[in-house]
Amino acid sequence: MSLALKPLASLALIGLLTAQSLQAAEPTEPTSTDRESSNTTVVMLGTGTPILKHDRAGQAILVVVDKEMYLFDAGPGFVKHFDALSGKDFMPEDIYFSNDSVYGEMNKVFITHLDSDHVLGLPELMLRPWIMGRSEPLKVVGPRGTEAMTTNILEAYVDDLDHRLYGTQPANPDGFKVSVSEIDDTQVVHRDDKVTITAFKVPHGSWEEGMAFGYRVETPEKTVVISGDTRYDESLYEHFRGADILIHEVMSEVGVSQQTQDWQDYMYHAHTSTQQLAEIGREIEPELLVMTHPLFIGQSDEQLRDEMAGYYDGNFVLASDLDIYE
Ligand SMILES: [Zn+2]
Repeated sequence: MSLALKPLASLALIGLLTAQSLQAAEPTEPTSTDRESSNTTVVMLGTGTPILKHDRAGQAILVVVDKEMYLFDAGPGFVKHFDALSGKDFMPEDIYFSNDSVYGEMNKVFITHLDSDHVLGLPELMLRPWIMGRSEPLKVVGPRGTEAMTTNILEAYVDDLDHRLYGTQPANPDGFKVSVSEIDDTQVVHRDDKVTITAFKVPHGSWEEGMAFGYRVETPEKTVVISGDTRYDESLYEHFRGADILIHEVMSEVGVSQQTQDWQDYMYHAHTSTQQLAEIGREIEPELLVMTHPLFIGQSDEQLRDEMAGYYDGNFVLASDLDIYE
């Protein structure tokens, strides 16, 4: 069913989506000057799963390189966490109603896959920073279906757009727009003078191949790898290797073992257990292994950490919202 748009909004919405193709390219080595001057910080803006937890927003991982922000996933409820970062020296300033601020920097997001725990916050990311000052379209990279999702989100909020664009509130004409690049294969998806970002395919449950991704973020001083939602698969090692910080999903092996066989089969087809993650850690040897998207399945935070410690003696943490790694 197509939604009827009001005339003004229909005009406003014309041309707001720009599908772009991405060319695969070889990463370039950062220069030694970049390496000395660059500063990379990772913030866990949301660490949750589909299971409700009042202290965990949905999946959202922020990598900040010299105050340029790169966001991975847009799960429910993470946007407000930017306020908690106000005044941090690695963050852009928050200047209300200015694009030259943290609001303007909320301008690119890389989506791992379209499960709702990873994209329920997308409408908020599209619309709220615009109200606060973003004046450029939001760049969105994601799998097939991302463009339809963003189009439908804007249609759903057409009355809000109409009201803000053509009412008495000062509003810029472009900050709510999106520029979508859909991907279906492993490839470089972003490169600028500091950062190269490569999307790589991951196997996640019954999503067909090319519909779920992890991301490898290479900055002058660090390599950060984000697994996305994935089951254990040794073919992913090539994308994990060299990670200083490996941010990987996890589920409790004890918890899964107490489920019925059909649920166990499903969980191992979609996710990675503590014991499997320990195997990955030993193979990759990251400086820091970050467990996120924790599927506790009845276990506590402490029990999950203890379970992991029983398998892995490398440096690891169980991520909480607003944890910062440098
Ligand atoms: Zn998920």
